[in-house]
Amino acid sequence: MNYDLQPPASHFVDGEYVEDTEGTPLPVIHPATGKTIATLHEATPAIIDRALDAARRAQVQWAAMTGAARGRVLRCAADIIRDRNHALSVLETWDTGKPLQETLVADAASAADALEYFGGLAGTLTGEHVQLGENWGYTVREPLGVCVGIGAWNYPSQIIAWKSAPALACGNAMVFKPSETTPLSSLRIAEILTEAGAPAGLINVVQGAGSVGHALVTDPRVDKVSLTGSVGTGRKVYAAAAEGIRNVTMELGGKSPLIVFDDADLDNAVGGAIMGNFYSTGQICSNGTRVFVQKGLKQAFLDRLAERLKGVVMGDPLDEATNFGPMVSERQREIVLSYIAKGRAEGARLITGGQAVDRDGFFIEPTVLADVTDDMTIAREEIFGPVLSVLDFETEDEVIARANDTEMGLSAGVFTRDLARAHRVIGKVKAGTCYVNSYNDAPVELPFGGSKLSGVGRENSKAAIEHYSQLKSVFVRMTDVDAPF
Ligand code: NAD
Repeated sequence: MNYDLQPPASHFVDGEYVEDTEGTPLPVIHPATGKTIATLHEATPAIIDRALDAARRAQVQWAAMTGAARGRVLRCAADIIRDRNHALSVLETWDTGKPLQETLVADAASAADALEYFGGLAGTLTGEHVQLGENWGYTVREPLGVCVGIGAWNYPSQIIAWKSAPALACGNAMVFKPSETTPLSSLRIAEILTEAGAPAGLINVVQGAGSVGHALVTDPRVDKVSLTGSVGTGRKVYAAAAEGIRNVTMELGGKSPLIVFDDADLDNAVGGAIMGNFYSTGQICSNGTRVFVQKGLKQAFLDRLAERLKGVVMGDPLDEATNFGPMVSERQREIVLSYIAKGRAEGARLITGGQAVDRDGFFIEPTVLADVTDDMTIAREEIFGPVLSVLDFETEDEVIARANDTEMGLSAGVFTRDLARAHRVIGKVKAGTCYVNSYNDAPVELPFGGSKLSGVGRENSKAAIEHYSQLKSVFVRMTDVDAPF
């Protein structure tokens, strides 16, 4: 099967596709050609209203089911997604421009992993018994209610699933707003969940930009907000959610360090730097964009990196031989090019790349800059593109201090053959998601998330359950009540 690029309608609400052409048109642009492949409409207040009402109603019905029954629906959705992996991956590639070689293994597949994992957990969620002498107490793990998910444009299928799977497992309903840049695949994930048995209204997808997100985040019917986006948007959404004391998960940006010691396996370290800077054309929040290389290995590292970059196959992302696609949008390409120019103006040395590619679409060369110093703009701000900055260092203490000298704290990685050093360094870096002799793995079984400005809360793993449920405590007196009068 193949999905039409133009979906049946812009929104998926209360178990069906719905349209409201009063909403501002939302063109969907294929990043490899710059051509419009579909046109959707932003959600109007009427659509938002319908989605939130449907979610509130469906949540009550869903929470009344056993966890095992809810889990069955999630696992069935995971199976359907795996069956349709190819069609979903092709759709994701049209929408994001990421190479099919990647989307076939990293997007719908990751969504299926999350639904399967949380589907398995759904029947195991319990409270506890607490003995208090003759009296006792117990806790009940309850859903929060209606959750709002807001996504970034880099991993649309994964983001809706990473938020919806734990939310639904805990008995919540979801209203999801994908990024306005990549609105297509979340509609299909919601459709599949409904096909798998989710009651109408349990999962809804509404389209639009920040104003639609803001309307959702501030609606009194909403109990929880989970955002994947930039730090700037995170500040706004967190503040808006605070007005209603809503529970939040914030998955925000990063400026993560990847530390390569002299004794590292060179090819693995270079491979980690490639995975941490060029996969998805560098559009990954956890990327290790500050690559600290110990001085003794610097030249060999740069030489090997330049050599390995000859393996880049840039081209039509729908061709499975392509391993490097375009940026998601013209705007994002401009942002990245301006960072490269700033880096060079501030003294960074261009090793390779640095240019937009003269062809249709938003292609840019994979770029390596060396002699980058801590104070340069490219070492301080998130670029969100294929730009790898190499910084030199000499000692372990020095590199730890410099790695932590950032307001963000999403990820960190270390390459060394000295395992004691690896764990010592990781123990001292301030980051939520870390790697030893690897980079950018995100298995559903491990928590994912950031510290400092990079976020609040964790996605994936059992830890996510804490962020989509609350505990009710019940004290049970077995003895007489001892009142003063
Ligand atoms: P963005 O912050 O511009 O937008 C994210 C989402 O928020 C979009 O859906 C947008 O429409 C919505 N939004 C914008 N303003 C809003 C408002 N006032 N109220 C409610 N919603 C609003 O981010 P982007 O450019 O789409 O994505 C790139 C950013 O996302 C990068 O900073 C990247 O690091 C981050 N990101 C983080 C993770 C993570 O898990 N930590 C994963 C992927 C991307």
